Amino acid sequence: MAELALNRDQYLELEKIGLGAFHPLDGFMGQRDFDSVVAEMRLGSGAVFPLPVVLDLSEADAERLRRSGEVALTFEGKVVGRLQPDDFFRPDRGHAARHIFGTDDASHPGVAWFLGLGPVFVGGRVELIRRAAFDISADELTPAETKALFQQRGWRRIVGFQTRNVPHRAHEYLQRVALEQADGLFVQPLVGRKRAGDYTPQAVMRGYRALIGPFLPADRVVLGVLSTVMRYAGPREAVFHAIIRRNYGCTHFIVGRDHAGVGNWYGLYDAHELTRRFDGELGIEILRLHGPYFCPVCDGIVTERTCPHYGTAATRQISGTDMRRILEGGTQPDPRLMRPEIVAALAGTKLFIEE
Ligand SMILES: [Zn+2]
Repeated sequence: MAELALNRDQYLELEKIGLGAFHPLDGFMGQRDFDSVVAEMRLGSGAVFPLPVVLDLSEADAERLRRSGEVALTFEGKVVGRLQPDDFFRPDRGHAARHIFGTDDASHPGVAWFLGLGPVFVGGRVELIRRAAFDISADELTPAETKALFQQRGWRRIVGFQTRNVPHRAHEYLQRVALEQADGLFVQPLVGRKRAGDYTPQAVMRGYRALIGPFLPADRVVLGVLSTVMRYAGPREAVFHAIIRRNYGCTHFIVGRDHAGVGNWYGLYDAHELTRRFDGELGIEILRLHGPYFCPVCDGIVTERTCPHYGTAATRQISGTDMRRILEGGTQPDPRLMRPEIVAALAGTKLFIEE
């Protein structure tokens, strides 16, 4: 049987497909699904699916596999899965990027990643034989595990929360809003390939362990990572993140300010608009929340819906980027913006991903 050695990103995608995290996908996309996803945000079947999930190949591997039947997928010498290749294709990447990311400018980290994939994509059904065992894998729950856990706890209304940051007070505010209405909260930090300057998975998990229990009720919050590539596709990725959390058993999903955005590529509430287009079709309800900020007049974390001072010089937006910059500089963040206990929990761990 032909073999194909996967890189880490590809292995994680295989694993997510195999575990059902990308349901209804049961394999890597062929051209029909790919084209339809790029143009319409739907699979060929019509099911909403906003981002491509592809297996990229070098020219040499494509040539070799074209002549074979079933392919053994390997990682570091071990067989981890199988692929039934049924479609080899070369998409127009610039065209696809403009649809997916709204730009083909390679200074956008998602575009750079997408344009850097191998020249040929192969579609076909996959089977996962061996789960990944990276340092982050111990903190990962499968969709079957989270669904069992939610059921065991008697939760019916479960809110999913996507993050790639050490929690600051604005995150906590959104989580408390969710907990007011839901039986439980599933915090699922994305820990796949990110860009230099993003938090390490270890920092994010340490931050959350200092929050859940000491400040949020541990019996109402589940924490588990999601290991997949961060695409930085803004609104489309918000829809993707919602579909994934549906597959983990969540009934609701929080989309806040600039979800999965990067730099100034997307409008702050573009993701609210795009998710609205698919209301009733996603199998999960979107909680569209506004970005909380600190207001010294109200003296607390508020949103533009609850505070009349929005946009005045006194209010302070709490952005993940700003908090990262403060921590990077080695100074203590304002305790009104990030809990000192969380900052203390980060001591001695590598905070940021390097080039
Ligand atoms: Zn105010």
